Amino acid sequence: MSETVLAVKALARSFEQGGVRIDVLRGIDFTIGHGEIVALLGPSGSGKSTMLQAVGLLEGGFSGSIAIDGEEVGSLESDARTRIRRDHLGFVYQFHHLLPDFSAKENVVIPQLIRGATYADAEKRAASLLNRLGLGHRLEHRPSQLSGGEQQRVAVGRALANKPSLVLADEPTGNLDEATADIVLAEFLKLVREEGSAALIATHNERLAKKTDRLVRLHEGRLE
Ligand code: ADP
Ligand code: MG
Repeated sequence: MSETVLAVKALARSFEQGGVRIDVLRGIDFTIGHGEIVALLGPSGSGKSTMLQAVGLLEGGFSGSIAIDGEEVGSLESDARTRIRRDHLGFVYQFHHLLPDFSAKENVVIPQLIRGATYADAEKRAASLLNRLGLGHRLEHRPSQLSGGEQQRVAVGRALANKPSLVLADEPTGNLDEATADIVLAEFLKLVREEGSAALIATHNERLAKKTDRLVRLHEGRLE
């Protein structure tokens, strides 16, 4: 087992905007250890989503190196990137992106089937995760029949379905009112800790960030 779940070196990304080049990430060096929960802070526009897209192998156009569970992944072909996302990573977004025609349980079952689990095992794990998120009575509900907080809990269950070594969360409670956000976040952190996953959570909520193990800030394209 490698020492770190994530090791990023000299990560850089620029965009052209109206003929002007902006350097959003200017050489990020950064590691996350096993089971470590890290908050990524920074004002809107500071590059948090850009950094998560790089680490999550969701976008190209980066320079530098990214190692996940000891494997260099920054320059992999698309099939290999899909494999890394499926086998090593879990994702939670600001908006849940659940499959609307499937139940809460099925939304947590499906990623496990894609990875080769049997239906019986996937269903057992989905029910366990959703129970632990307080959704034992909502297993058969469709996303549209759930509240915003419940939808986001399902998204958390889905992210953890395949026991990822690293969960990437981009403003995971940004779409919820403050009281609900606090509750969902506490449940999210508890489940991530129980499962032993590491997490990188982009947020501009300082209160939320204080509940993690470590805080890093993006400022002018660098981490401080
Ligand atoms: P944050 O998530 O911290 O709010 P982002 O990573 O979304 O910040 O954006 C950082 C900067 O990069 C912003 O100035 C944004 O406009 C720019 N940016 C992000 N994605 C693109 C893109 N696809 N094309 C051009 N500019 C982009
Ligand atoms: Mg963002």
